Amino acid sequence: MRYSRILVNFVLISLLWATYAAHAQDGGRFDPALQPEFQQDIAAFPDIPQITITASLTITDQQATINGNMQVLYTNLSPDALSEIVFRLYPNYPSYGGQATVNNVLVNGITVTPELDSTASIVTVPLPTPLLPSEQAMVTMDFASTVFAEQTVLYAQYSYLGGNLALPNFFPLLSVYETGVGWWRNAAHPQGDAVYSTTANFDVTLTAPAKWVLITSGTRIESTENTDQTRTHHYVAPLMRDFALMASTQYETVSGEQDGIAIDVHYFSGGDEAANTTLRFAEDAVRIFNAHFGEYPFTELDVVETRTVAGGIEYPGLVVVQSESWKAQDLYLEIVTVHEVAHQWWYSLVGNDQTRDPWLDESLAQYSTTLYFGEVYGPDFQQGFFDSYADSWRNFSAENGDRVIGLTPSDYEDGAYFSFVYAKGPLFFKFLADTYGQDALIQGLNDYFMAYRYQIATPNALQTVLEASLGQELDKWFLEWVGQSN
Ligand SMILES: [Zn+2]
Repeated sequence: MRYSRILVNFVLISLLWATYAAHAQDGGRFDPALQPEFQQDIAAFPDIPQITITASLTITDQQATINGNMQVLYTNLSPDALSEIVFRLYPNYPSYGGQATVNNVLVNGITVTPELDSTASIVTVPLPTPLLPSEQAMVTMDFASTVFAEQTVLYAQYSYLGGNLALPNFFPLLSVYETGVGWWRNAAHPQGDAVYSTTANFDVTLTAPAKWVLITSGTRIESTENTDQTRTHHYVAPLMRDFALMASTQYETVSGEQDGIAIDVHYFSGGDEAANTTLRFAEDAVRIFNAHFGEYPFTELDVVETRTVAGGIEYPGLVVVQSESWKAQDLYLEIVTVHEVAHQWWYSLVGNDQTRDPWLDESLAQYSTTLYFGEVYGPDFQQGFFDSYADSWRNFSAENGDRVIGLTPSDYEDGAYFSFVYAKGPLFFKFLADTYGQDALIQGLNDYFMAYRYQIATPNALQTVLEASLGQELDKWFLEWVGQSN
């Protein structure tokens, strides 16, 4: 008895020491971006990519360019020997309309020649020697990303409009290696979201003209003024799958707080009233989703007005909302804000391949939005959303035939994307709520969030977790609604 007590203590102390040692390694550098109770999560994922970026932003009236250097410490977490590592250059997508290049690519200090596909958006970095399971490689490269002024390409997701910069995915973003499948090289369909990436720890140092306000994923830990009218900002963004950047000389900010999370709304001059309502929408959304699905672990969430024409777009720790809808008392502003905030749970924390299973994050963001409206305005309001989703789905189906929700964007090219992914999709979750109880479904989604946060989920993963949580076989429903089952 006594002996085993000592043994137990020994095991406990060893575990604590391992956690402490892993934490001490990075000197707690990432801690400011995580709430105290989540800082230990860094030690729970010690082998995720460590990405260090040093870059500078130069801006003229015609274009803005980020020149930088990136270091990626990559650990092979697959059981396969890897002969290459793949990065994505999103600015080169026709739907982004920018231009990006990489140069001086080194692997463990050895110069290698990367291979670019015909769209220059897939960068394959050959490894001089195969990277065996659990081995590490250090990949470094210089990069340059340019955005051209006053060009509205598709959603103006990556843009320089009216003196405002939206620069998501401005650096070569590590792709995803899927065991048994290989590196993700899908070209995004312009209709859906483009990015599929893995959770990493980002350390980003950005130098920019001093008068520009920079809004990014993660947390700024230092900012120093230089002698040449620039400022150098240092950010940390641990346990995030991307690092987004928005910038303007015009941003004003209102700040709030919810459950210990600083929520900042950044808006253009004159938008104060809408900024205040947007802050309330975001605070309520965070409160409701925290309570239902599990807590948002980061210390900050930014809601940013931009010139996008997509309604809104989600990035880790940061969502954008289109300027066109920046009006107080606008229901659309509330819907978009809540939908994009819901993506912090579905897409940002629980990742998925948005080009293959867009329903997985979009339908959940839509369903989550109905939960928000049900709680804030009452069940009739929630039902109103379901009715409008049902109309969209039924009207399209009546003319063109019904479809399942689990297809790719190119399968919905004929205008079906919204009706199935955004309308029929949330109705699948309503169906599960009606069949098994809304509270039971929410508990199941909480289990799904806790099992897959910081990781990548699939439709099969969702089905497996929901089946365990509900204690029910869901094959029949997944086949019928999604079109696939375990
Ligand atoms: Zn969405």
